[in-house]
Amino acid sequence: MRECCGVFGVYDYKGKNVIFNIYLGLMTLHHRGQESAGISLYEKSGIKTGKVYGLVNEKLLANMKKYKSTAGIGHVRYSTAGNSTLYNAQPISNRSLSIAHNGNLVNNIQLRRQLTKAGSKLRTKSDSELILALLTKERESTGDLFEAIRNSVNELEGAFSLVLLTNDGKVVAIRDPYGFRPLCEGEAGNIMAFSSESIALDINNIDLSRDIQPGEMVIVDENGVQRKRYASYTRRAHCMFEYVYFSRADSIIDGRSVYRVRYKLGVNLAKTYKTDADVIIPVPDTSRTAAEGLSHESGIPVAEGLIKNRYVQRTFIMPEQKQRDGAVKIKLNPLKTVLSDKKVLLVDDSIVRGTTLKNIVHMIRKAGAREVHVRITCPPIISPCFYGIDIATHDELIAAYKKNEEIRKSITSDTLSYQKIDGLIDAIGIPREDLCLGCLMDQYPTSKAQELSDRLKNKSRKKRVRYWEDD
Ligand code: SF4
Repeated sequence: MRECCGVFGVYDYKGKNVIFNIYLGLMTLHHRGQESAGISLYEKSGIKTGKVYGLVNEKLLANMKKYKSTAGIGHVRYSTAGNSTLYNAQPISNRSLSIAHNGNLVNNIQLRRQLTKAGSKLRTKSDSELILALLTKERESTGDLFEAIRNSVNELEGAFSLVLLTNDGKVVAIRDPYGFRPLCEGEAGNIMAFSSESIALDINNIDLSRDIQPGEMVIVDENGVQRKRYASYTRRAHCMFEYVYFSRADSIIDGRSVYRVRYKLGVNLAKTYKTDADVIIPVPDTSRTAAEGLSHESGIPVAEGLIKNRYVQRTFIMPEQKQRDGAVKIKLNPLKTVLSDKKVLLVDDSIVRGTTLKNIVHMIRKAGAREVHVRITCPPIISPCFYGIDIATHDELIAAYKKNEEIRKSITSDTLSYQKIDGLIDAIGIPREDLCLGCLMDQYPTSKAQELSDRLKNKSRKKRVRYWEDD
């Protein structure tokens, strides 16, 4: 199982119950995962964990609010393969710790072997459980939380933004040395909280104070806050896709407003390509902000030409292909009043398989558009992600095996233009060397990921599998 997930953790110094903070936080992070949700709370008698399949709901809240805990963590999850069962949902807990993880480990197969050989009893296929097992083993042998974390996380390769709850009531936030996935902290009076995105702090009226630094851990308990570096600086590799697609536009990630980045992506598209159309139509929701920027720069009006059914999950994060195909039609309806007899400039954030966009172009033509020109705010995705976004094989990526003109024909648009890499970097405003661009350039910040990509690419298409199944 591999996840694109959201995590939240909170500690209340004045002893107030934190369950509502976690509940609100998880509700706000559901765009990062909708298959399951879970909460772990600190109790003197032991860590209590509750999970639900689907969205966080009142039943989970009702089950957990009896504990009146002052420390807790939560998780929303999306699995990309296999059974999306409650058994694999997070947080994953044992007597010593509970863990909520966002990201993917790249060396999970080796770690699993190593832990099994050393006698660890693993119950799930999740790489998050490997982290839990390592941490628990180290905590038992060192008796010191900081030492245990430092020894354990230095054995991990890949992406991990973690929140932990210990059986003595500490809440801990840890970010991997590259800072692939976001993780921030905030404070409000007696409360300290950690979150994948700042919006989950906003909803709790907690002020965003800082981002957890790559290679840093923050431990909070009744004695206050301790911030420690566990890894020496290597290089940062913030995921560009968090800005382009995954995070919510109202989040601030590593000091950048996701809204401003997306707006600039639109501006840069308008500056790079000649833009001539009657109307700009964004594919809702993530492309809306870029369409505003494109409209501002080009002077072409932007309009809502696709109306979204808000009660359908994002197609990209639905696990089955059949579900995805059906969901496009259920999710979007073209507005004839806006589209009829128009030369349309359609803006989308990315092309993965190309099937969704093809259906949308078809819909827009059927609604009467004369021409459909497509602009993509992200450069072509040509290689898998090994760090926690569900782009698992080259075969799932149309740009991995088709040229621009072939993709245009496949999606049946009149033209197709992608953002240039320089336009993307300029919009994000983080130096190229501090970004992960692995899936765009097939050049990964960690050696094991590069090795995996090279190995998978060189296999015949029939033998290509998801990397965690490739032993
Ligand atoms: S490979 Fe792509 S999606 Fe994955 S972390 Fe890097 S930039 Fe993000």
